[in-house]
Amino acid sequence: MSFFREEFTARSAAVRVRFGAGVRKNIAEELETLGAERALILTTPQQAELAEEFAGYCGARAAGTYTNATMHTPVDVSEEAVRHAEELGADVLVAVGGGSTTGLAKAIALRTGLPQIAVPTTYAGSEATPILGQTENGVKTTQTNPKVQPGTILYDAELVATLPVGMTVTSALNAMAHAAEGLYARDRSPISSLMAVEGLRAFRDSLPRVLASPEDVATRGETLYGAWLCGTVLGQVGMALHHKLCHTLGGSFNLPHAETHAIILPHALAYNAGAVPELLAPVAELFDDDNPGRGLYRFAKEIGAPLALSDLGVSEADLDKAADLAVANPYWNPRPIERDAIRTLLQAAWSGDMPAF
Ligand code: NAD
Repeated sequence: MSFFREEFTARSAAVRVRFGAGVRKNIAEELETLGAERALILTTPQQAELAEEFAGYCGARAAGTYTNATMHTPVDVSEEAVRHAEELGADVLVAVGGGSTTGLAKAIALRTGLPQIAVPTTYAGSEATPILGQTENGVKTTQTNPKVQPGTILYDAELVATLPVGMTVTSALNAMAHAAEGLYARDRSPISSLMAVEGLRAFRDSLPRVLASPEDVATRGETLYGAWLCGTVLGQVGMALHHKLCHTLGGSFNLPHAETHAIILPHALAYNAGAVPELLAPVAELFDDDNPGRGLYRFAKEIGAPLALSDLGVSEADLDKAADLAVANPYWNPRPIERDAIRTLLQAAWSGDMPAF
Protein backbone atom coordinates (compact mmCIF):
# COMPACT_ATOMS: atom_id res chain seq x y z
CA MET A 1 0.00 0.00 0.00
CA SER A 2 1.36 3.44 -0.91
CA PHE A 3 -0.02 6.93 -0.39
CA PHE A 4 2.42 8.54 -2.81
CA ARG A 5 0.93 11.07 -5.25
CA GLU A 6 2.79 12.73 -8.08
CA GLU A 7 1.44 16.13 -7.04
CA PHE A 8 -0.05 17.35 -3.81
CA THR A 9 -0.25 20.32 -1.47
CA ALA A 10 0.02 19.46 2.23
CA ARG A 11 -1.22 21.89 4.87
CA SER A 12 -0.76 21.55 8.64
CA ALA A 13 -1.69 23.96 11.40
CA ALA A 14 0.91 24.98 13.99
CA VAL A 15 -0.71 23.28 16.96
CA ARG A 16 0.81 22.19 20.25
CA VAL A 17 -0.67 18.84 21.31
CA ARG A 18 -0.13 17.28 24.73
CA PHE A 19 -1.36 13.80 25.31
CA GLY A 20 -1.69 11.69 28.47
CA ALA A 21 -3.94 10.57 31.30
CA GLY A 22 -4.15 13.44 33.80
CA VAL A 23 -2.46 15.97 31.47
CA ARG A 24 -5.31 18.46 32.12
CA LYS A 25 -3.86 19.06 35.57
CA ASN A 26 -0.87 20.77 33.88
CA ILE A 27 -3.00 23.48 32.34
CA ALA A 28 -1.40 26.23 34.43
CA GLU A 29 1.92 25.41 32.67
CA GLU A 30 0.24 25.85 29.32
CA LEU A 31 -1.19 29.21 30.38
CA GLU A 32 2.27 30.27 31.47
CA THR A 33 3.75 29.15 28.12
CA LEU A 34 1.19 31.35 26.38
CA GLY A 35 1.84 34.24 28.76
CA ALA A 36 -1.87 34.20 29.62
CA GLU A 37 -3.09 35.37 33.01
CA ARG A 38 -6.91 35.48 32.77
CA ALA A 39 -8.46 32.26 31.51
CA LEU A 40 -12.15 32.03 30.67
CA ILE A 41 -13.22 28.40 31.04
CA LEU A 42 -16.04 27.20 28.79
CA THR A 43 -18.32 24.16 29.16
CA THR A 44 -21.90 23.08 28.49
CA PRO A 45 -24.40 23.33 31.39
CA GLN A 46 -24.14 19.53 31.75
CA GLN A 47 -20.37 19.79 32.30
CA ALA A 48 -20.41 22.86 34.57
CA GLU A 49 -18.68 20.92 37.36
CA LEU A 50 -15.71 20.42 35.05
CA ALA A 51 -15.45 24.20 34.68
CA GLU A 52 -15.01 24.48 38.45
CA GLU A 53 -12.46 21.65 38.42
CA PHE A 54 -10.48 23.48 35.73
CA ALA A 55 -10.70 26.78 37.60
CA GLY A 56 -8.89 24.94 40.40
CA TYR A 57 -6.13 23.75 38.04
CA CYS A 58 -5.74 27.26 36.60
CA GLY A 59 -5.39 28.73 40.09
CA ALA A 60 -4.68 32.47 40.08
CA ARG A 61 -4.86 32.46 36.27
CA ALA A 62 -8.61 31.58 36.28
CA ALA A 63 -10.69 34.67 35.43
CA GLY A 64 -14.09 32.97 35.36
CA THR A 65 -16.36 30.43 33.71
CA TYR A 66 -19.10 30.44 31.08
CA THR A 67 -21.13 27.25 31.12
CA ASN A 68 -23.77 27.79 28.45
CA ALA A 69 -22.12 26.22 25.39
CA THR A 70 -24.94 25.06 23.13
CA MET A 71 -25.27 22.60 20.23
CA HIS A 72 -24.73 24.12 16.74
CA THR A 73 -23.08 27.30 18.12
CA PRO A 74 -25.99 29.78 18.10
CA VAL A 75 -24.73 33.30 17.38
CA ASP A 76 -26.64 34.88 20.31
CA VAL A 77 -24.89 32.56 22.77
CA SER A 78 -21.49 33.38 21.24
CA GLU A 79 -22.19 37.11 21.49
CA GLU A 80 -23.20 36.79 25.14
CA ALA A 81 -19.99 34.82 25.81
CA VAL A 82 -17.91 37.52 24.06
CA ARG A 83 -19.43 40.15 26.36
CA HIS A 84 -18.63 37.95 29.37
CA ALA A 85 -15.03 37.50 28.15
CA GLU A 86 -14.64 41.27 27.74
CA GLU A 87 -16.12 42.04 31.16
CA LEU A 88 -13.67 39.60 32.76
CA GLY A 89 -10.71 40.89 30.76
CA ALA A 90 -10.02 37.33 29.59
CA ASP A 91 -6.81 36.81 27.64
CA VAL A 92 -7.25 33.10 26.80
CA LEU A 93 -10.13 30.66 26.26
CA VAL A 94 -10.12 27.16 27.75
CA ALA A 95 -12.77 24.95 26.11
CA VAL A 96 -13.49 21.77 28.05
CA GLY A 97 -16.00 19.55 26.27
CA GLY A 98 -17.18 18.18 22.95
CA GLY A 99 -17.72 19.85 19.59
CA SER A 100 -20.33 22.25 20.98
CA THR A 101 -17.95 23.74 23.55
CA THR A 102 -15.03 23.81 21.13
CA GLY A 103 -17.35 25.55 18.67
CA LEU A 104 -18.14 28.25 21.22
CA ALA A 105 -14.44 28.91 21.86
CA LYS A 106 -13.85 29.17 18.11
CA ALA A 107 -16.76 31.59 17.74
CA ILE A 108 -15.36 33.80 20.53
CA ALA A 109 -11.85 33.59 19.03
CA LEU A 110 -13.23 34.65 15.64
CA ARG A 111 -14.72 37.79 17.22
CA THR A 112 -11.90 38.64 19.65
CA GLY A 113 -8.68 37.03 18.39
CA LEU A 114 -8.17 35.38 21.81
CA PRO A 115 -5.94 32.26 21.88
CA GLN A 116 -7.57 28.94 22.71
CA ILE A 117 -6.68 25.83 24.68
CA ALA A 118 -9.01 22.96 23.75
CA VAL A 119 -9.53 20.04 26.11
CA PRO A 120 -11.79 17.56 24.28
CA THR A 121 -14.14 15.22 26.12
CA THR A 122 -15.63 13.51 23.03
CA TYR A 123 -14.11 12.17 19.81
CA ALA A 124 -15.77 14.73 17.47
CA GLY A 125 -12.41 16.26 16.49
CA SER A 126 -13.40 19.93 16.17
CA GLU A 127 -10.37 20.96 18.25
CA ALA A 128 -8.09 19.83 15.41
CA THR A 129 -9.74 21.90 12.67
CA PRO A 130 -9.96 25.52 11.48
CA ILE A 131 -13.67 24.94 10.76
CA LEU A 132 -16.55 26.71 12.52
CA GLY A 133 -20.27 26.06 12.02
CA GLN A 134 -22.61 28.72 13.44
CA THR A 135 -26.40 28.98 13.59
CA GLU A 136 -28.46 32.13 13.22
CA ASN A 137 -32.25 32.23 12.73
CA GLY A 138 -32.22 28.45 12.31
CA VAL A 139 -29.69 28.54 9.45
CA LYS A 140 -26.28 26.90 9.93
CA THR A 141 -23.33 28.26 7.98
CA THR A 142 -19.82 26.85 8.01
CA GLN A 143 -16.54 28.65 7.44
CA THR A 144 -12.89 27.67 7.39
CA ASN A 145 -10.60 30.27 8.95
CA PRO A 146 -7.15 29.76 10.52
CA LYS A 147 -8.19 32.28 13.22
CA VAL A 148 -10.49 29.69 14.81
CA GLN A 149 -7.96 26.82 15.01
CA PRO A 150 -7.10 26.18 18.69
CA GLY A 151 -3.34 26.57 19.16
CA THR A 152 -3.07 24.15 22.09
CA ILE A 153 -4.88 20.84 22.60
CA LEU A 154 -4.72 18.73 25.76
CA TYR A 155 -5.90 15.16 25.16
CA ASP A 156 -6.63 13.58 28.54
CA ALA A 157 -8.10 10.08 28.43
CA GLU A 158 -9.52 10.44 31.95
CA LEU A 159 -12.03 12.92 30.53
CA VAL A 160 -13.43 10.55 27.89
CA ALA A 161 -13.66 7.70 30.41
CA THR A 162 -16.96 9.28 31.58
CA LEU A 163 -18.44 9.28 28.08
CA PRO A 164 -21.51 6.99 28.21
CA VAL A 165 -21.20 3.85 26.04
CA GLY A 166 -23.84 5.00 23.52
CA MET A 167 -22.09 8.33 22.96
CA THR A 168 -18.73 6.60 22.84
CA VAL A 169 -19.86 4.53 19.87
CA THR A 170 -21.59 7.31 17.92
CA SER A 171 -18.89 9.88 18.62
CA ALA A 172 -16.21 7.41 17.47
CA LEU A 173 -18.04 6.66 14.22
CA ASN A 174 -18.46 10.41 13.70
CA ALA A 175 -14.67 10.73 13.96
CA MET A 176 -14.04 7.73 11.73
CA ALA A 177 -16.19 9.32 9.04
CA HIS A 178 -13.67 12.17 8.73
CA ALA A 179 -10.83 9.74 8.15
CA ALA A 180 -12.76 7.49 5.78
CA GLU A 181 -13.87 10.38 3.54
CA GLY A 182 -10.41 11.90 3.81
CA LEU A 183 -8.99 8.88 2.00
CA TYR A 184 -10.66 9.85 -1.26
CA ALA A 185 -10.57 13.65 -0.85
CA ARG A 186 -9.29 15.41 -3.95
CA ASP A 187 -6.94 17.52 -1.83
CA ARG A 188 -5.58 14.60 0.23
CA SER A 189 -1.84 14.38 0.81
CA PRO A 190 0.28 11.34 1.72
CA ILE A 191 0.32 12.67 5.30
CA SER A 192 -3.47 13.05 5.57
CA SER A 193 -3.92 9.51 4.22
CA LEU A 194 -1.40 8.06 6.66
CA MET A 195 -3.21 9.77 9.53
CA ALA A 196 -6.59 8.59 8.26
CA VAL A 197 -5.59 4.93 8.15
CA GLU A 198 -3.91 5.05 11.55
CA GLY A 199 -6.94 6.86 13.03
CA LEU A 200 -9.29 4.18 11.70
CA ARG A 201 -6.99 1.45 12.97
CA ALA A 202 -6.82 2.99 16.42
CA PHE A 203 -10.63 3.00 16.72
CA ARG A 204 -11.01 -0.47 15.22
CA ASP A 205 -8.60 -1.92 17.77
CA SER A 206 -9.64 0.03 20.84
CA LEU A 207 -13.43 0.43 20.59
CA PRO A 208 -14.35 -3.19 21.31
CA ARG A 209 -12.00 -3.08 24.34
CA VAL A 210 -13.51 0.22 25.54
CA LEU A 211 -16.98 -1.30 25.39
CA ALA A 212 -15.77 -4.26 27.45
CA SER A 213 -14.34 -1.90 30.08
CA PRO A 214 -15.45 1.71 29.52
CA GLU A 215 -13.40 3.20 32.35
CA ASP A 216 -10.07 1.67 31.29
CA VAL A 217 -8.03 4.82 30.79
CA ALA A 218 -5.25 3.20 28.75
CA THR A 219 -7.72 1.91 26.16
CA ARG A 220 -9.58 5.22 26.19
CA GLY A 221 -6.23 6.82 25.40
CA GLU A 222 -6.04 4.90 22.14
CA THR A 223 -9.53 6.06 21.14
CA LEU A 224 -8.53 9.64 21.87
CA TYR A 225 -5.41 9.18 19.75
CA GLY A 226 -7.74 8.03 16.95
CA ALA A 227 -9.89 11.14 17.49
CA TRP A 228 -6.87 13.42 17.15
CA LEU A 229 -5.78 11.78 13.90
CA CYS A 230 -9.29 11.71 12.39
CA GLY A 231 -9.96 15.32 13.42
CA THR A 232 -6.66 16.44 11.94
CA VAL A 233 -7.63 14.83 8.64
CA LEU A 234 -10.92 16.76 8.70
CA GLY A 235 -8.95 19.96 9.24
CA GLN A 236 -6.74 19.31 6.21
CA VAL A 237 -8.96 17.99 3.42
CA GLY A 238 -12.44 18.40 1.94
CA MET A 239 -15.32 16.02 2.62
CA ALA A 240 -17.88 14.58 0.17
CA LEU A 241 -21.11 12.53 0.00
CA HIS A 242 -21.17 11.29 3.57
CA HIS A 243 -20.84 14.73 5.12
CA LYS A 244 -23.26 16.35 2.67
CA LEU A 245 -25.88 13.68 3.37
CA CYS A 246 -25.50 14.04 7.13
CA HIS A 247 -25.68 17.82 6.87
CA THR A 248 -28.83 17.67 4.71
CA LEU A 249 -30.56 15.05 6.85
CA GLY A 250 -29.52 16.69 10.11
CA GLY A 251 -30.69 20.14 9.03
CA SER A 252 -33.93 19.08 7.33
CA PHE A 253 -35.15 16.56 9.88
CA ASN A 254 -33.44 17.91 13.01
CA LEU A 255 -31.49 14.69 13.61
CA PRO A 256 -28.79 14.22 16.27
CA HIS A 257 -25.32 14.85 14.81
CA ALA A 258 -23.22 11.85 15.88
CA GLU A 259 -26.00 9.25 15.48
CA THR A 260 -26.70 10.41 11.93
CA HIS A 261 -23.01 10.08 11.05
CA ALA A 262 -22.88 6.61 12.60
CA ILE A 263 -25.83 5.38 10.54
CA ILE A 264 -24.89 6.91 7.17
CA LEU A 265 -21.16 6.15 7.06
CA PRO A 266 -21.23 2.47 5.92
CA HIS A 267 -23.79 3.34 3.22
CA ALA A 268 -21.85 6.33 1.90
CA LEU A 269 -18.63 4.31 1.72
CA ALA A 270 -20.38 1.45 -0.07
CA TYR A 271 -21.84 3.97 -2.55
CA ASN A 272 -18.35 5.29 -3.34
CA ALA A 273 -16.34 2.06 -3.08
CA GLY A 274 -16.76 1.01 -6.70
CA ALA A 275 -15.56 4.42 -7.95
CA VAL A 276 -12.33 4.50 -5.89
CA PRO A 277 -11.58 0.90 -4.86
CA GLU A 278 -7.84 1.50 -4.52
CA LEU A 279 -8.31 4.53 -2.23
CA LEU A 280 -10.74 2.69 0.04
CA ALA A 281 -8.68 -0.53 0.03
CA PRO A 282 -7.21 0.30 3.48
CA VAL A 283 -10.76 0.45 4.91
CA ALA A 284 -11.64 -2.85 3.22
CA GLU A 285 -8.52 -4.39 4.72
CA LEU A 286 -9.06 -2.95 8.21
CA PHE A 287 -12.67 -4.15 8.37
CA ASP A 288 -12.00 -7.41 6.58
CA ASP A 289 -14.44 -7.23 3.69
CA ASP A 290 -13.92 -6.61 -0.03
CA ASN A 291 -16.62 -3.94 0.29
CA PRO A 292 -15.43 -1.32 2.84
CA GLY A 293 -18.99 -0.14 3.52
CA ARG A 294 -20.18 -3.62 4.35
CA GLY A 295 -17.11 -4.27 6.53
CA LEU A 296 -17.78 -1.07 8.44
CA TYR A 297 -21.50 -1.89 8.74
CA ARG A 298 -20.63 -5.20 10.39
CA PHE A 299 -18.19 -3.44 12.76
CA ALA A 300 -20.81 -0.80 13.64
CA LYS A 301 -23.35 -3.54 14.36
CA GLU A 302 -20.91 -5.44 16.56
CA ILE A 303 -20.20 -2.38 18.69
CA GLY A 304 -23.92 -1.67 19.09
CA ALA A 305 -24.12 1.48 16.93
CA PRO A 306 -27.52 2.78 15.85
CA LEU A 307 -28.14 1.43 12.35
CA ALA A 308 -31.51 2.77 11.20
CA LEU A 309 -32.68 6.29 10.37
CA SER A 310 -36.19 5.06 11.28
CA ASP A 311 -34.99 4.85 14.91
CA LEU A 312 -34.16 8.58 14.80
CA GLY A 313 -37.77 9.39 13.90
CA VAL A 314 -37.37 9.75 10.11
CA SER A 315 -40.50 8.44 8.38
CA GLU A 316 -40.28 6.31 5.23
CA ALA A 317 -42.41 8.92 3.46
CA ASP A 318 -39.61 11.47 4.05
CA LEU A 319 -37.04 9.52 2.04
CA ASP A 320 -38.08 10.91 -1.36
CA LYS A 321 -37.79 14.45 -0.01
CA ALA A 322 -34.42 13.58 1.54
CA ALA A 323 -33.15 12.20 -1.77
CA ASP A 324 -34.33 15.34 -3.61
CA LEU A 325 -32.60 17.58 -1.07
CA ALA A 326 -29.41 15.54 -1.26
CA VAL A 327 -29.09 16.12 -5.01
CA ALA A 328 -30.37 19.71 -5.03
CA ASN A 329 -26.97 21.42 -4.68
CA PRO A 330 -24.30 19.67 -6.75
CA TYR A 331 -20.96 18.99 -5.07
CA TRP A 332 -17.88 16.94 -5.80
CA ASN A 333 -17.92 13.24 -4.94
CA PRO A 334 -15.79 10.40 -6.34
CA ARG A 335 -18.95 8.79 -7.76
CA PRO A 336 -21.48 11.10 -9.41
CA ILE A 337 -24.48 11.89 -7.20
CA GLU A 338 -27.35 9.99 -8.84
CA ARG A 339 -30.81 10.62 -7.43
CA ASP A 340 -32.14 7.06 -7.75
CA ALA A 341 -29.00 5.54 -6.28
CA ILE A 342 -29.14 8.00 -3.36
CA ARG A 343 -32.78 7.02 -2.79
CA THR A 344 -31.66 3.35 -2.68
CA LEU A 345 -28.87 4.25 -0.23
CA LEU A 346 -31.37 6.07 2.01
CA GLN A 347 -33.81 3.16 1.98
CA ALA A 348 -31.13 0.79 3.33
CA ALA A 349 -30.01 3.39 5.91
CA TRP A 350 -33.63 3.94 6.96
CA SER A 351 -34.27 0.23 7.53
CA GLY A 352 -30.85 -0.41 9.07
CA ASP A 353 -30.01 -3.02 6.42
CA MET A 354 -26.61 -3.96 5.04
CA PRO A 355 -25.51 -1.27 2.49
CA ALA A 356 -27.19 -1.74 -0.88
CA PHE A 357 -24.08 -1.35 -3.07
P1 NAD B 1 -21.49 17.91 22.15
O1 NAD B 1 -20.28 18.74 22.37
O2 NAD B 1 -22.72 18.60 21.63
O3 NAD B 1 -21.83 17.14 23.50
C1 NAD B 1 -23.06 16.44 23.62
C2 NAD B 1 -23.41 16.28 25.11
O4 NAD B 1 -22.49 15.39 25.73
C3 NAD B 1 -23.29 17.60 25.89
O5 NAD B 1 -24.34 17.66 26.81
C4 NAD B 1 -21.97 17.47 26.61
O6 NAD B 1 -21.93 18.22 27.79
C5 NAD B 1 -21.93 15.98 26.90
N1 NAD B 1 -20.57 15.43 27.05
C6 NAD B 1 -19.48 15.74 26.34
N2 NAD B 1 -18.44 15.02 26.76
C7 NAD B 1 -18.86 14.24 27.77
C8 NAD B 1 -18.22 13.28 28.60
N3 NAD B 1 -16.93 12.96 28.48
N4 NAD B 1 -18.97 12.68 29.55
C9 NAD B 1 -20.28 12.95 29.67
N5 NAD B 1 -20.94 13.84 28.91
C10 NAD B 1 -20.24 14.49 27.96
O7 NAD B 1 -21.21 16.69 21.15
P2 NAD B 1 -20.11 16.43 20.03
O8 NAD B 1 -20.62 15.29 19.23
O9 NAD B 1 -18.75 16.36 20.61
O10 NAD B 1 -20.15 17.76 19.14
C11 NAD B 1 -21.15 17.97 18.16
C12 NAD B 1 -21.02 19.35 17.57
O11 NAD B 1 -19.69 19.57 17.15
C13 NAD B 1 -21.90 19.56 16.36
O12 NAD B 1 -22.48 20.86 16.43
C14 NAD B 1 -20.94 19.48 15.19
O13 NAD B 1 -21.37 20.20 14.08
C15 NAD B 1 -19.69 20.04 15.81
N6 NAD B 1 -18.45 19.58 15.15
C16 NAD B 1 -17.67 20.53 14.55
C17 NAD B 1 -16.49 20.16 13.94
C18 NAD B 1 -15.63 21.21 13.31
O14 NAD B 1 -14.54 20.90 12.84
N7 NAD B 1 -16.06 22.45 13.30
C19 NAD B 1 -16.08 18.82 13.92
C20 NAD B 1 -16.89 17.88 14.54
C21 NAD B 1 -18.08 18.26 15.16
